[in-house]
Parts: sequence; C-alpha cells; structure tokens
Amino acid sequence: MYADRLDVITGLAKRRGFVFPASEIYPGARGAWDYGPLGVELKNNIKRQWWRTLVTGRDDVVGLDASVIAGPAMWEASGHTQHFAEPLTECQACQRCYAVAALTAQFTELHGRSPAPGLSDVNCPDCGTRGTFTDPRMFSALLSTSLGPNPPTPSYLRPEGTTGIICNFANVQQTARKKPPFGVAQIGQVFRNEIAPNNFLFRTREFEQADLVFFTQPDASAEWHQYWIDARMQWYVDLGINKDHLRLMEIAPAHSSERSINVEYHFDFVGAEWGGLEAISNRSDRDMQAHAKASGADLTHYDQEKSNRWLPHVVSASAGINRAVLCFLLDAYSEDMARNAKGGTDKRVVLKLDYRLAPIKVAVLPLSRNPELSPRARSLADALRGSWNVEFDDAGAIGRRYRRQDEIGTPYCVTLDFATPNDNAVTVRERDSMSQERVSVDQLEGYLNTRLRGA
Ligand code: ATP
Repeated sequence: MYADRLDVITGLAKRRGFVFPASEIYPGARGAWDYGPLGVELKNNIKRQWWRTLVTGRDDVVGLDASVIAGPAMWEASGHTQHFAEPLTECQACQRCYAVAALTAQFTELHGRSPAPGLSDVNCPDCGTRGTFTDPRMFSALLSTSLGPNPPTPSYLRPEGTTGIICNFANVQQTARKKPPFGVAQIGQVFRNEIAPNNFLFRTREFEQADLVFFTQPDASAEWHQYWIDARMQWYVDLGINKDHLRLMEIAPAHSSERSINVEYHFDFVGAEWGGLEAISNRSDRDMQAHAKASGADLTHYDQEKSNRWLPHVVSASAGINRAVLCFLLDAYSEDMARNAKGGTDKRVVLKLDYRLAPIKVAVLPLSRNPELSPRARSLADALRGSWNVEFDDAGAIGRRYRRQDEIGTPYCVTLDFATPNDNAVTVRERDSMSQERVSVDQLEGYLNTRLRGA
C-alpha cells in the first residue's frame, strides 16, 4: 500500500521537476538524487523557514558555516572514527551487503518476532537464499578522502554538522558577544557511507543537515532540552505536517549524548514504519570536554556573576533537510474530485504545501494565447516577480493549467480573461478551496501580500 504512495511521489517528483535520479544518463549513482527547478525551490524554502525560526527570528542564536572537510584529529576527539559505524552482514550466495539493523527490522515487521541468532531464518531480500549471512562486522560510515599531493593528507567529509559548531564555540562566543544560554546554527552538506541507501530521499549517502547547537549553563541543559523538543515538534506542525503523523521517540543515546529524542514521521516504509526527521540530544559537557582535552583549547565560559569558569553543556537538534523534503511532499499529497469544463468531475492531484514552502507562489495565466492578453499577462507576471516566485503559462486549456499548478502546490492562480482589458481586473483562484475572486489589478499585489504573508 505504502510503496504505492512512495512510487507516486517519486514519479511526480521526476515528472514535474522536483527530484531526478542523480546523473541519470550514466550508470552507477543508485540512491543519489538531483534536485530539479521545483525541488531546489522547495528545499530552499524549508531551509529558509528553519533559518528564520531558529536564527533571524531569535536574539539568542547566531549562524555559522563550517568547513565540510576536516582532518582526523577532530573526528578522533569527537569519537566518530571509533564509534560512527554499524554492523554489516553479507549474503554469501549473492554477495549483497546489508545493515543488520535493517534486515532485523524488516523481518520483525513481517513475522512479528525477532529473527533467530545469526539471521539463520532470514531470506536474503535480493536473491532469496535463506540464512547464508556472514557474521556481522562493523562498517564505518565515515567517508574519507585525501587532500593535496605529496604527501596526500588523509581527511574526512563531515558526517554531521554539530562537531564543527562545537569546535567554534570560543570563536563565536567572543565575536558574537554571547554568553550561555545561546545557540549556533548551521545548514550544510554531510556525507555518510550508508550500507544501503533506500526509500528515495529517506536514506542517501549525501544529504543536508540543519543543526542547532545550544550552549547552556551546566544545570540548565535538561530544561533547554525539553524546550527544544517542544519547539522543534511545533515547527513541523506549524508548517503543515499532520500532528497524527508525528511522534516523539526516546532513542538509545549515541556515544556522545545523555538523552536523545527523535522527532519521527509516519513514513510507513517496510522495515521503517516511523522514521526520524530530527534528533534532539542533551549531550551534557562531554563533547566540550573531549575537544578541550584533545586540542588543548580553552572552551570554558567565564561567568562574571559567579567569578568562575565552567564548560557549557550542549543541547543539539539535528534535522535532515532531504528527509524533510520527502516528509513535506508525502504529507501534502492529496487527491480529490474537481469539476471539469464539461460539467463532470475529474481526479485532481493537489500538493497542499504550506504557502511558505510552495515552490511557485503565483501562476499568471492568460485565458488564451492572444495578442491582447499574453503581453499584458507577461508584464503582470514580471511586476509580481519583484515579490514572489511567479510562473507564466499560456499553453493549453485553462483547466489543464490549473491542474498543473495544483499538482506542484501553487497557492494562487491569476487569470486574465477577455474582460480584463476593459475592467482592469483578474480572477484569483485559491488552490485548496478552488474559490475564485475578481480582484482589480491595482489591488492585486496587496491582495496577495496579505494572503502570502511570510512566504
Ligand atoms: P537513521 O537512524 O535514520 O539512520 P540517524 O539516527 O543516524 O538516522 P542522526 O545522526 O540523528 O540520524 O541525524 C539527524 C537527522 O539526519 C536524521 O533524523 C535524518 O533526518 C537525517 N539523516 C540521517 N541519516 C540520513 C541519510 N542517510 N539520508 C538522509 N537523511 C539522513
């Protein structure tokens, strides 16, 4: 059932230019994706909303853009070279590799019980052979590279964003003149050598993370942790995700955290009914201690009121932007029946994206391609482009053009008809209700402004 929905979204994403298989004209890039003209807008809008809510909308969070590449010392101190790995097993019949956790989850979901020791009762999902799995071995998810010639320097592509922030604590604190509690936020590309990328944008080897690291007084981290759990959950709800499709899950703490909560979405994938959108962790002062010790840098905060120094504690919130793109697409997808020009009804596909996330905010559509309407419509579209991302379309029947815009989530269609040259008014159609209103061209920008506030 669900596979259908994922197929539908994957198909729509490709057909309408949200997401394409990466470098599709060549073989070999399975599980990687390129964002098309609409996808890049959607992804940027999600990032913009995150940044507005967490950085520019607050007095106690500032931004950072740390390097993707870093030498082994930082990743040794953070524990990643040692712990950022997961058990892998290989089917000896077909040599296909699997994450043990994924095989186990899939089996448990299908059979309602855990697999036998050694996965002896598990069939290989690829070739179907039963129980020919090797003993698990740990497989590092760190992607390494080497930099420069003679001698090449071993380095890593960052697997997550918080470490780069934590290591900049002193720089940011001094230059931004902040004292805990305050946060540092960053959005950027991260890389993980996943054993098996899967489920479209859900699990890939390259993705973007939006990270908040919030530095607190030592006795305040639990309170701030709860604050950020509530705030981050609400962010998804405010941007239109159905509350019933979200839940908070306590997860086993990672090597660096005291307590970790996942914000999860009901993706309903085989073997992963609920999937993490974001991990929110109370990491105490472990990372700060580890980096202070390994680097010799002073990462303490001088508390003027108490005249002493202490290491700030850290609360982090790490959201996957690409997984969020998938989640917003899945949750926004809907089908209904709408009246067609012949008086009957047709199936209508609508992406009910929050207006702030919709890739195109307004479509300008002359009723027909006509020397009186098209140039007028083009110049109206140009004028509106000063404020929003606007699409002009004069090809085909108007009903079909409305459907095209509904399918990509455009909130408003502005239609110029044969009365427009006389009354200087247009018809504005709203996506979800399909209600239409006649609006004077002089008042159009103000009309849209009140309805697209914050978009
Ligand atoms: P998972 O358990 O799903 O593998 P994780 O617990 O390893 O994820 P974190 O390290 O907590 O994930 O990363 C924070 C967020 O980054 C996740 O909640 C998810 O949204 C995103 N994320 C993690 N791995 C991937 C991936 N391979 N592809 C896309 N997004 C990812």
